[in-house]
Amino acid sequence: MPAPVYRRILLKLSGEALMGAGAHGIDPDVLDRFAADVRELVGAGVQVGLVIGGGNLFRGAGLAARGMDRVTGDHMGMLATLMNALAMQDALERLGAPARVMSALSVERVCEDYVRRDAMRHLEKGRVVIFAAGTGNPFFTTDTAASLRAIEVGAELLIKATKVDGIYSADPMTDPGATFYPRISYGQALREGLKVMDTTAIVLCRDHGMPLRVMNINASGALLRLIRGEDIGSLVVS
Ligand code: UDP
Repeated sequence: MPAPVYRRILLKLSGEALMGAGAHGIDPDVLDRFAADVRELVGAGVQVGLVIGGGNLFRGAGLAARGMDRVTGDHMGMLATLMNALAMQDALERLGAPARVMSALSVERVCEDYVRRDAMRHLEKGRVVIFAAGTGNPFFTTDTAASLRAIEVGAELLIKATKVDGIYSADPMTDPGATFYPRISYGQALREGLKVMDTTAIVLCRDHGMPLRVMNINASGALLRLIRGEDIGSLVVS
């Protein structure tokens, strides 16, 4: 087996990925499958940071559209990401992979606060660090949190796991003529408004030279092949 080409990566999973075929919540089989994929990466010697969204449970903008204060809604959204993070920590540890949830909002009886130096130490010791509660601020997304944490902890690659094979000119689920882009620049992603990550997240990656890989999380073994150097999904670089 070829050695991994990355020492440290950050993987972003949307909350919706945890729903499986359901319309809401966490599918335990899907959770365990993702945890097994992550454990394989750790077993291959890669340090793994994880950011999980909260869209399977709650999104701030949803109730704000019905009159709720947006900041309150976003606080609830961030707590939703913490629930997903705790579920993933549990799944990883059941599989024997040590993991630590580190939250951008203090919930001190439940998990550690995010402190960069502590996060780096956990990663160096081979523990999966699950960064919860996004950036800790309303009006941001977990995509932006993923870019931020990837840059902060010096990850060599940010991987955005999606339901499709990478970046397309249009949504391949609805437009059969959509063109696949194996490699694009941040500028092109921004100019063409491609559905890669939100603008703040892409701009952060661009300004700090963080390469971004968009790939299909449901393709079996794909993460492991990627970290061993296979060209999988789409790459966004300068
Ligand atoms: N959120 C926030 N600040 C952040 C990250 C997330 O306020 O830094 C809130 C926001 O309400 C968002 C929700 O948490 O809708 C869930 O995150 P996101 O929508 O990014 O999850 P995903 O779409 O990846 O499942």
